[in-house]
Amino acid sequence: MLPALTPTTEFFWTSGADGRLRILRCADCGRFVHPPGPVCRWCLSPNVAPTVVSGRGSVFTFTVNVQQWSERLSEPYVVAIVELEEEPGLRLLTNIVECAPDAVAIGMPVEVSFEAAEDVFLPRFRPAS
Ligand code: ZN
Repeated sequence: MLPALTPTTEFFWTSGADGRLRILRCADCGRFVHPPGPVCRWCLSPNVAPTVVSGRGSVFTFTVNVQQWSERLSEPYVVAIVELEEEPGLRLLTNIVECAPDAVAIGMPVEVSFEAAEDVFLPRFRPAS
């Protein structure tokens, strides 16, 4: 199942159209805000806007799924929380791809790799080159 696009989240799910990852950033306190919301989660400012980030980070934690919950997914696959290099605590729930599940490790450097699916670009992460 693909994510539903809303005015708040559309930029995030379509950002990969140009191969770049975008995260909301607050113009007042400078911190990143994820998941996207109408105001900054740190200072409650409404001055948040999508900002291009490096797409680089590291595996914060992960698990390997062996149950095929969807026809789109072929098990086993890795569900991970990746922390982006821009800010401590800036984390995304994602998948690790282009890597054997047994080779994934906490702290492993990764970079974004988009998977186009209908009108969205799913941000996944692969081992950093
Ligand atoms: Zn703020």
